[in-house]
Amino acid sequence: MVPDGRYAPSPTGTLHLGNLRTALLAWLFARAGGSRFVVRVEDIDTGRSRERFVAEQLADLAALGLDWDAPVVRQSDRGALYADALAALDAERLVYPCWCTRAEIRQASSAPHGPLPGGAYPGTCAELPAARRAERARSGRPAALRVRAAAAQVTVQDKLLGPVRSTVDDFVLRRADGDWAYNLAVVVDDQAQGVGEVVRGADLLETTPRQAWLHGALGYGAPPAYAHVPLLLGADGGRLAKRHGAVTLAGRASHGQSPADVRAELAASVGLCAPDEHLEPAELVARFDPEGLAAASCG
Ligand code: GLU
Repeated sequence: MVPDGRYAPSPTGTLHLGNLRTALLAWLFARAGGSRFVVRVEDIDTGRSRERFVAEQLADLAALGLDWDAPVVRQSDRGALYADALAALDAERLVYPCWCTRAEIRQASSAPHGPLPGGAYPGTCAELPAARRAERARSGRPAALRVRAAAAQVTVQDKLLGPVRSTVDDFVLRRADGDWAYNLAVVVDDQAQGVGEVVRGADLLETTPRQAWLHGALGYGAPPAYAHVPLLLGADGGRLAKRHGAVTLAGRASHGQSPADVRAELAASVGLCAPDEHLEPAELVARFDPEGLAAASCG
């Protein structure tokens, strides 16, 4: 048995073939190990989430032949859990308000000093003297809440990519607009849902040390296992987008292709079958080998 797996789409658009391949792989990792698989709707970004994409994304996953074992969880319903986690960190004096704008952070973090990687929060508001903090608070400008990670050095062992080492910056837990931040919600939910193996796109690798660190800071014990799968790219090597033609199930349907055709194409792209070989989901499960995926060239 491998630990429970999940797919956690954000309903900010229609799932494209790259998202669908990641979902298929996450499902295959779990099912090939005989594990549970859950789906979570990550709709905490209230500015970008759209209700119509929630049902559409779930329908596309089902059309591809994926199934899940528990009712779908929505992050917009789970604010109380995130508030509890924030309170627990605050009780450890690990939370502080931050008034920096994006431009200020960009400017400060590009200065050639300090141990943090480019783009990381440089800690400007971490040690504000009390008087200055009070002055900022009085200005009425809303503050984001950041966690004091003290530039922790974290190494995550990725199942496909090997060790990923990074210095964790003081990342955001709650945004200045009041929305919960992705890193907090994802860690709380993976723990609450019993997810032990996180399979997702390689574009999220960069933030993984933060999540592994937060897992520990919240007292959850060892973080989940991680496997970051290659992104499906367009023929020109760029990220999949509308300019690449029909890149959604609906788009493919209008060209006469069924979800089973798309599943075959996605499975073929990771070396599980020939493009014209139409396997049922269960047959793909029987063939799936995570070790093979690590070696396969996923185009
Ligand atoms: N909701 C995120 C996305 O759609 C994925 C989060 C995750 O898998 O950890 O990009």
